[in-house]
Amino acid sequence: MLNEINALPDGFLEVDHKNILELLKTPTLIHLQGENPQPLFISTLLHGNEDTGFIALQSFLKKYESLKLPRAISIFIGNVEAAGKDVRHLEGQPDYNRIWPGTEHEDCEEARMMQSVVEIMQAKRPFASIDLHNNTGRNPHYGCVNRLSPQYLQLARLFSHTVVYFTSPKGVQSEAFAKICPAVTLECGKVGELDGVEHASRFIDTTMQLEHLPDHKPSDIDLFHTVARVTISDEIEFGFDGRGDITLDGSIELYNFREVEEGTAFASLNNGKATGLQAWDDDGNDVSDKYFEIVDKKIVLKKPMMPSMFTRNTEVIRQDCLCYLMERVVTD
Ligand SMILES: [Zn+2]
Repeated sequence: MLNEINALPDGFLEVDHKNILELLKTPTLIHLQGENPQPLFISTLLHGNEDTGFIALQSFLKKYESLKLPRAISIFIGNVEAAGKDVRHLEGQPDYNRIWPGTEHEDCEEARMMQSVVEIMQAKRPFASIDLHNNTGRNPHYGCVNRLSPQYLQLARLFSHTVVYFTSPKGVQSEAFAKICPAVTLECGKVGELDGVEHASRFIDTTMQLEHLPDHKPSDIDLFHTVARVTISDEIEFGFDGRGDITLDGSIELYNFREVEEGTAFASLNNGKATGLQAWDDDGNDVSDKYFEIVDKKIVLKKPMMPSMFTRNTEVIRQDCLCYLMERVVTD
């Protein structure tokens, strides 16, 4: 399934992500040489419609078209089939960012491919790993880490003051690479925003020129820990227009990365069918009662929290989740 090559295919720097399937045919790992032989690993298009990282990579590589790269780089272009359809993943396909080593997903061809990407890269002792994503709601640009070690936080801090630490969901790229090298997942805003492309491209360039990552904790970061993932039960109809069982608050995206007070309503109940939102902790335990209660047919927050990744995209809410709830991490 995996294609491994040592040069950029003709047309790579210009191709639109929707046409990448014709160019690459399958998920592809590309190794390019550079001044420093220890490679930076970058993955993108693990979600086929999230093209900001791919465009940023093209822009970075164009800059070095006639120059030697400061260090070697290995690029993994993930779900090329989903990219062709401009969707996160095709029906019947697993989510390409839930099937890396450590996954809870059942064994499948795609999971074995991710395993082999990790093994190939492990042998090359990567300098760092970056996985580039977009989200659908209104969020600041931020980096996510799966470890709180200094170099991991430094790498994330190079991208943004805002850093999120998470240990669930399982099977994500950055968690698998965290065992090998400093690793981050970068959320570069919404698809189609030019500043996300420029920011990610600058970040790649900066990281490629680094000799090493400082071995002390960055002092100026806003660090948050994801404590719960919020979903809506499959049999519940929901929306923003007052129909169905639950009506979500139309301004939920404005709560992202804001300290939201207890008693804030995220949704209202339209009938007796829905009993509320579901919240899950890192171990998959139902912790809904810890964070939500029903007051006057409204689903309200039981304690002050900071949400992230709230989106108004009902398809994404169904496929992924409504939001995450976070708490601030105080480091010494
Ligand atoms: Zn993504």
